[in-house]
Amino acid sequence: MDKNQLYLLELHKQTDSRIESLRSYAEQNNVPIVDRLTLDMIKQLIRIHQPQQILEIGTAIGYSSMQFASVSSDIHVTTIERDEAMLTQAKNNRTTFGFNTQIRQIVGNALEQFEQVNDRVYDMIFIDAAKAQSQKFFELYTPLLKEGGMVITDNVLYHGFVADIDIVRNRNVRQMVKKVQSYNEWLMNNENYTTNFLNIDDGLAISIKGASK
Ligand code: SAH
Ligand code: MG
Repeated sequence: MDKNQLYLLELHKQTDSRIESLRSYAEQNNVPIVDRLTLDMIKQLIRIHQPQQILEIGTAIGYSSMQFASVSSDIHVTTIERDEAMLTQAKNNRTTFGFNTQIRQIVGNALEQFEQVNDRVYDMIFIDAAKAQSQKFFELYTPLLKEGGMVITDNVLYHGFVADIDIVRNRNVRQMVKKVQSYNEWLMNNENYTTNFLNIDDGLAISIKGASK
């Protein structure tokens, strides 16, 4: 980790919320929750953009959904997860931290939950599930995103592999990294969205629907 990043992480510790206590659990149990500085970037985007309805693909233990909901009591998050063990923990965490009314949990494969979430229009979509599927999630759910809404995709630089695929030996990882590369290019060239990519943590893409070029 570089010096600036370490410095900023230390600085941010001064404003740790109660929810942040889940980070050490996540690290010990290899749950890939959104990185700390990325989280603060997204929360700041939420303060600027003021989304009321957020759709999240990939709940895990509920960390990011609760962090987003904590920005304002006007925010409602619909979040999709397929893993039973994660779902149990997310539910417990929502109860512990008091987010049961602001967060709606959808259970199942996110490639198949359109009918469960199309009862509303979303102001923001956070894509953070299986990395090889990001484009599929984007294509499936963005018809529910309002004009001017934003799609945030996490891990678009995946472990530094996306910029340097030659270092990847494992075949499955290589396949996944290729998909991330192709997603990034597709996003960049998508005429209906304006996207910018941030070289922060594991890489973040911020796409605005219908924004002029
Ligand atoms: N957004 C969370 C972290 C999510 S980790 C946070 O930052 O706190 C990614 C999660 O996506 C995992 O829990 C995994 O089970 C889930 N996932 C992956 N592919 C999925 C799919 N197709 N449908 C539903 N959930 C999926
Ligand atoms: Mg992530």
